[in-house]
Amino acid sequence: MLSLKEFNTFGLSAHAKCLDIAESAESLLALWQKAKSQKQPVLLLGGGSNVLFTEDFEGTVILNRIMGIQYQETDESWRLHVGAGENWHELVCYSLKNQIYGLENLALIPGCAGAAPIQNIGAYGIEFRDVCEYVDVLNLETGEQTRLSVDECQFGYRDSVFKHKYQESYFIISVGLLLKKNWQPMLSYGDLTRLSRGSVTPQQIFDSVCTMRTSKLPDPAITGNAGSFFKNPIVSAEVAVKIKESYPDSPQYPHANGMFKLAAGWLIERCNLKGYRIGGASVHLRQALVLINQGNATGKDIIALAAYIRQQVISKFGVLLEPEVRFIGSKGEIDAVECIS
Ligand SMILES: Cc1cc2nc3c(=O)[nH]c(=O)nc-3n(C[C@H](O)[C@H](O)[C@H](O)COP(=O)(O)OP(=O)(O)OC[C@H]3O[C@@H](n4cnc5c(N)ncnc54)[C@H](O)[C@@H]3O)c2cc1C
Repeated sequence: MLSLKEFNTFGLSAHAKCLDIAESAESLLALWQKAKSQKQPVLLLGGGSNVLFTEDFEGTVILNRIMGIQYQETDESWRLHVGAGENWHELVCYSLKNQIYGLENLALIPGCAGAAPIQNIGAYGIEFRDVCEYVDVLNLETGEQTRLSVDECQFGYRDSVFKHKYQESYFIISVGLLLKKNWQPMLSYGDLTRLSRGSVTPQQIFDSVCTMRTSKLPDPAITGNAGSFFKNPIVSAEVAVKIKESYPDSPQYPHANGMFKLAAGWLIERCNLKGYRIGGASVHLRQALVLINQGNATGKDIIALAAYIRQQVISKFGVLLEPEVRFIGSKGEIDAVECIS
């Protein structure tokens, strides 16, 4: 078995039977077909920054390393065609260097461009959907490549068609971004609110985002983690009002269809769980939404910690937390909610 430790940002010592690298859609298809002919399950990984290995993977892990960035300029916009294996943060740096603006709020999000559409990555008021023009997928059963328009991707909060209809038998091979030359800064969150709309530059936003992220979030290269472990829960207005009555300082944001988004980190913090530890896993001291590997955690430790947190939040607030991180069992993805219920 081969170690996956350096291919998952939690730094868990899980193993796989085989590990291959795909540098083109053709090699991705060939590797998938080879594994299937050996009756092995297949897991495609980008940066491994949104996965939790709950045990060893009894199959082939394929690392997506389809590279390449091409750009085209029109009078109004820039169009980037990006290979799915390109590192997301390096793409943000590349665009800034080439005076193509609009990605700076999404700086320092780990992982590959090809995974960005899956959970519609977002930070500091911008989501992938705001910059997406299309996503190219490879149908593994037929070998056919299809281009999905931004509407067909059905993006939602940490959600897209790639978690549903296009999850089985499809791999993302490239993404297309559309960035308007009429750049408008997004300054609604965190320290960005202190910048001046009239004079701010994309570089200043990028720098500010990088400073905020490095001061708040643990660096996976030092402390294993997968970023926000849980999604921010979406609740009815009735539930939101009830919580507000008891906790007037609870952060709440209006969401679609009269619902409200709560801050999962705040709920966990209010259960006094910062620093709480089970085995080698603990809740990060500065950011309660992040679960960390203290060095020797197992997938089971992290599951036990997540289950405990979920239970505490239910008891105190009556709110159900759902993992944002994808749980990978011995044969492929497993139901994360079921695992911690
Ligand atoms: C420190 C830290 C901070 C983070 N901050 C944020 C944040 O601010 N906002 C945010 O949205 N996310 C954040 N994340 C989560 C993570 O960076 C994103 O989800 C990222 O898009 C995952 O990319 P990846 O390449 O590492 O995906 P992986 O972890 O390799 O894969 C994730 C899932 O997608 C599947 N997959 C990967 N590539 C493909 C493909 N090409 N085709 C089909 N399926 C594929 C995998 O099989 C797996 O199920 C953070 C993570 C960390 C560790």
